[in-house]
Amino acid sequence: MIHSHSFNRVEINISALQANFQSIQNVVGPQIKIMAVVKSDAYGHGLVECAEALYRAGAGTFGVAEVWEGIKLRRAGLQGDIVVLLGGSRDSHEDIIKYGLAPVVFDMDYLSGLSQEAARMNADVKVHLKVDVGMGRIGVMSHEFESCVALIKRLPGISLAGILAHFPVADEINSMQTTNGQLSDFKNILAALKLNESGEVIAHMANSAGIIYFPESHFDMVRPGISLYGYYPAAASARAKTAAPALDLQPVMSFKTRVIQTKDVGPGYGISYGHTFVTRRKSRIAVLPVGYADGYLRILSNRAQVLVGGKRAPVCGRVCMNATIVDVTDLPRVNTGDEVVLMGRQNEEEITADEIAEWMETISYEVLCLFGSFNERIYV
Ligand SMILES: *Cc1c(COP(=O)(O)O)cnc(C)c1O
Repeated sequence: MIHSHSFNRVEINISALQANFQSIQNVVGPQIKIMAVVKSDAYGHGLVECAEALYRAGAGTFGVAEVWEGIKLRRAGLQGDIVVLLGGSRDSHEDIIKYGLAPVVFDMDYLSGLSQEAARMNADVKVHLKVDVGMGRIGVMSHEFESCVALIKRLPGISLAGILAHFPVADEINSMQTTNGQLSDFKNILAALKLNESGEVIAHMANSAGIIYFPESHFDMVRPGISLYGYYPAAASARAKTAAPALDLQPVMSFKTRVIQTKDVGPGYGISYGHTFVTRRKSRIAVLPVGYADGYLRILSNRAQVLVGGKRAPVCGRVCMNATIVDVTDLPRVNTGDEVVLMGRQNEEEITADEIAEWMETISYEVLCLFGSFNERIYV
């Protein structure tokens, strides 16, 4: 028999994902639509599996980064609106039309090309016009906005389905004023255009931070990403829980491996490459078959902890390409084959993506994308 599975596995808890969606819907209220942001392989959780589960939970709109992700969803049979957050390229017009995708637009030359192709194919492409009210990323500037809307209305084969903006600092408590300013700029733009009278053009601005901290930013639709996967933006979960007490999030991803060897070594014994860890006492160590090639990055060397038998064990020495060593001297006896939780819950203990992000000097988003994209995923 071929042993075809890795020791390492990322587990995706689909019912936690659906419960998070439901909880977000409860917080924003039933009138507000939700664009489930499933870009980048659903933050490492699996594009198709998550989109399908979210559709079953009631999501009607999905946000992907690029056109190919939208195609992948359509080929899997996904219904609903698919918004391409980075927009299309000049060679993707046909795909956008054929697969019924709605690109975010911010470039009028691109839009003219798309319109020509849509007219030629006798199609109607829905677009979402993005305005930059201070993100400093994609979007037309506020002063260009009106003329862009006028152009979209004139172009054959194109209809304006949405208007959006994005928050850069909505998760930062010291930047409330900035965010409120951006919110009122966006409101002014909407008011000047009187777009919502017909109800056909939907306005959307809120990411997870907007959903939690700025109820006024919910407009017609919200765009949660990280909160769907069970995390609060920027790890400020204590503050978030006060701001949105009804929001109840559970991590969706866990990352597990198994012990492949245990051994007892004396004091003064160097562990792993570079001997950056030397035992100070008689020690019991356990070798894990996971390393930076699995997204368990080298920066976790001598910093991270893992769970074995429901207890924390520190990583000692350098994380290698496919191996990591942990010190289990203080734990009840650990054996080869024991389950190890690198991220997730084991009995009463839990290691979250936020905690790992701190060790890695990054944010939970990056941890989830890393672990998810390097490892076999199991849906539970
Ligand atoms: C990624 C993204 C989101 C989701 O942001 P979270 O902080 O993960 O909730 C929303 N809107 C846009 C335009 C995005 O690119």
